[in-house]
Amino acid sequence: MNSNDRHDEYDAIIVGSGTAGATIASELSRSKKKVLILEKGETVVLRETLAGILAIAQEVKLGKGRLSTVRAITTGGSTGMYFGVVGYPDLDIFSALGIDLSWALAEVKAQLPIAPIPDELLTPQASRLRDSANTLGHVWGKYDMLVDWSRCHGGYSYDAKWKARSLVESALDDGAVLTTRATVDRILVEDGIAVGVEYHEKNGLWRSRQRRAFGKKIVLAAGELATPGILRDSGLRDVGDRGFVCNPGYAIYGLVPDMQGISGFVGSMGCMDDDGIELGDANIPRPIHGPMMLGGLNFRHLFSFPKTLGIGVKVKDEFGGELTDDGRFRKQISVADQAKLDKGRRRAVEILKHAGARHIVDFGVTAAGRVGGMVRINEHIDSQLETPYRNLHVCDGSIIPEALRVPPTLTLVCLGKYLSRHLSTQI
Ligand SMILES: Cc1cc2nc3c(=O)[nH]c(=O)nc-3n(C[C@H](O)[C@H](O)[C@H](O)COP(=O)(O)OP(=O)(O)OC[C@H]3O[C@@H](n4cnc5c(N)ncnc54)[C@H](O)[C@@H]3O)c2cc1C
Repeated sequence: MNSNDRHDEYDAIIVGSGTAGATIASELSRSKKKVLILEKGETVVLRETLAGILAIAQEVKLGKGRLSTVRAITTGGSTGMYFGVVGYPDLDIFSALGIDLSWALAEVKAQLPIAPIPDELLTPQASRLRDSANTLGHVWGKYDMLVDWSRCHGGYSYDAKWKARSLVESALDDGAVLTTRATVDRILVEDGIAVGVEYHEKNGLWRSRQRRAFGKKIVLAAGELATPGILRDSGLRDVGDRGFVCNPGYAIYGLVPDMQGISGFVGSMGCMDDDGIELGDANIPRPIHGPMMLGGLNFRHLFSFPKTLGIGVKVKDEFGGELTDDGRFRKQISVADQAKLDKGRRRAVEILKHAGARHIVDFGVTAAGRVGGMVRINEHIDSQLETPYRNLHVCDGSIIPEALRVPPTLTLVCLGKYLSRHLSTQI
């Protein structure tokens, strides 16, 4: 592909092939638009093997301390390693921002596999946690999941989880062009109008070449950790000016001597207590157990998968921190947030102990699957998700309103459909 001097070669250039980017690419391609997807990662199909996990788990340090998070830099984005827990978009929050997602949500519900885990697939670990938590007065219940349960006859199945990669594949079937190993650095703007992107395409291990592509519409969907930096590097300096939220939490594990655990679906059950502290089933499948325990230097748990019982703790944090000029996220956990984390940790340990666990360890504070609040609707972008640069739209985790702190995947599919409908009328 050489588009260096050809304006408007594409109807739309989508930066990033994650949940939102893949949705938009598939919707626009289906309506016969000429779409280019630029993706930083590779096309290799993921597997929950050590090699696969090492390849996809791009750890991102947030700040000086131990706060960190992981992202999948690959075709299909973070759903390549997510848990599949469903959080529904709050239609009233979006409606107040001038965005009607009701029709998109109805479509998504009809198209994607959404249901709670069937009882027969609950693992011994999931049942132990539920029983212990309920005895202690928590309301530990099932969540809807983006999993095709009909594909789980043999128990846990990575392939049964819905992933955005399937939408990339349908976009390609409908004629979209995908360029992988292509990292977009900035948006090309002429007289206040976005006309294309500048990116570097990796060529071998160390080499890369600078390229440009041009389109009528540019959609930035590089994810919440990349998009704010690209916007800033493209001249929108006030992005992230109030800091960010990152739902920090702990993953806490103990050993239950009489348990015979098996692989299961992380996050399929949990509870949200009245004070906003969320606890959930953090029992990871066996292939991830070893690498995770090794990474945390938890040698006692390393070879004890069947006896390992885990809880995740998540709290709602205050706005704070900054995106530095070198693209790093820095945040100091506030005293109030640390108090909530400590409370959540004590609660999780109590549930684990009541379930019979010993040798309880945690992995330090990490940021949960969300780092948000940097790009604000009706401030940095309008209700058509368009930036002050005409024809540049943003659609990914970075734009989800701060008040909406549920697992974001379903909301992003809805937003992707919403933006696609608008763009189809324009190109
Ligand atoms: C461990 C984990 C578990 C999670 N579990 C859940 C869950 O159970 N339920 C839920 O709803 N959500 C969950 N999430 C969050 C969810 O996966 C993400 O919020 C969602 O996939 C984000 O979609 P996105 O489109 O914003 O970005 P992503 O899916 O992250 O996609 C961004 C894409 O852009 C690419 N990219 C980045 N920079 C550039 C660049 N400069 N140029 C070109 N391409 C670029 C990336 O490679 C990636 O493919 C989890 C996340 C993690 C990390």
